Amino acid sequence: MWAVDFTVMAQRRKLVILGATGSIGDNTLQVVRANPGRLEIAGIAGNKNFEKLARIAREFGVKDVAINDAEAFEKARKSGLFDGVRLYGGKEGIMEISVMPQADTLVAAVVGTDALKPTLAAIEAGKDIALANKELLVMAGKFVMSAAQRKGVKILPLDSEHNAIFQCLAGERKADIAKLIITASGGMFRDYTREQMLNIKPSDALKHPNWNMGPKVTIDSSTLANKGLEVIEAHWLFGVSADKIQVVVQKQSLVHSMVQFVDGSVLAHMSPPSMTFAISHSLLTPERGNFAVEPLDFSKPFSLDFRPPDTERFPCLKYAYEALRKGGTATTVFNASNEVAVGRFTRGELPWIHIADVVGETLSQETAFDPESLDEVLAADAQARLTARKISEKFCG
Ligand code: MG
Repeated sequence: MWAVDFTVMAQRRKLVILGATGSIGDNTLQVVRANPGRLEIAGIAGNKNFEKLARIAREFGVKDVAINDAEAFEKARKSGLFDGVRLYGGKEGIMEISVMPQADTLVAAVVGTDALKPTLAAIEAGKDIALANKELLVMAGKFVMSAAQRKGVKILPLDSEHNAIFQCLAGERKADIAKLIITASGGMFRDYTREQMLNIKPSDALKHPNWNMGPKVTIDSSTLANKGLEVIEAHWLFGVSADKIQVVVQKQSLVHSMVQFVDGSVLAHMSPPSMTFAISHSLLTPERGNFAVEPLDFSKPFSLDFRPPDTERFPCLKYAYEALRKGGTATTVFNASNEVAVGRFTRGELPWIHIADVVGETLSQETAFDPESLDEVLAADAQARLTARKISEKFCG
């Protein structure tokens, strides 16, 4: 059986967007604008930026808005910007809007592990999940996928790579897969020498050559940790083992991933590097929507370059495979230690080159086990963060 379901019925999806003010949120709104009458926004949630939430609510006629940050929530209430809108505050507010009965689909577009509880609650409430957040499956794939199966809801992959694979697999049999081939841009520093890597500053790591994404994802792409997270995510979404998942650097970010079949054929999905293509497919399948960004133009020349990734210079990818092969809480540890290291790098405390060291050392210190409950996952996550913080001390200046 497929972990993802290809037989989604055509319907007008009613969305709740967690992370409406972020990069995936922006792209989702662009897709909704390009497809009037086919997608509806029932609720939106954001962390702090209530002015932007108010603008979105006005444009799309959204009546339910959640604001995570307590101070921003108070300001929003007094701002007069939300007349006729129900406002929800804090973590409880996010939970409430995630399960609101007027919606059928939750767009999980926030980064990090905070999305875990609201996403699981939405699954329990019978909602399909359009999943952009990678950490959920990496941290707790076993529980997210089994809850989705038990409730009969769909996990729609919103990440460009997984959506590409989702598209390539339509009509295929799982037994015929030889390899899922996930493409990587290689990130900002793909051609850096070790010398150059020693002096990378947070502002350098926030400039991606092809994609315009949020800060956490951009830094993760610069270390290839992002690709590691995506390998683990692909394992959960498509039920394929680590040995059958390969990563290739595709410099132009025009091929978003591929599937190689047992007969040697390879199918690829191509589009310009904009998340709108993946989001549009995920939310409108089995129909095709209008494009929100100009598609590829083959009347002009362009080239595609492929090369294998260098896991010596970018060891985070190697550690992700290691974690996936170990299984159980090892991927939780991979994710938690990476979040800690990226946080410290962003604050200017940890040199970029040691992000991978923190991840690698935390993985080798923490003993992985098969978690029996979500609480055990959360405990492993918290423990890994402590260990990662301790390890990162020796690399901080
Ligand atoms: Mg991606």
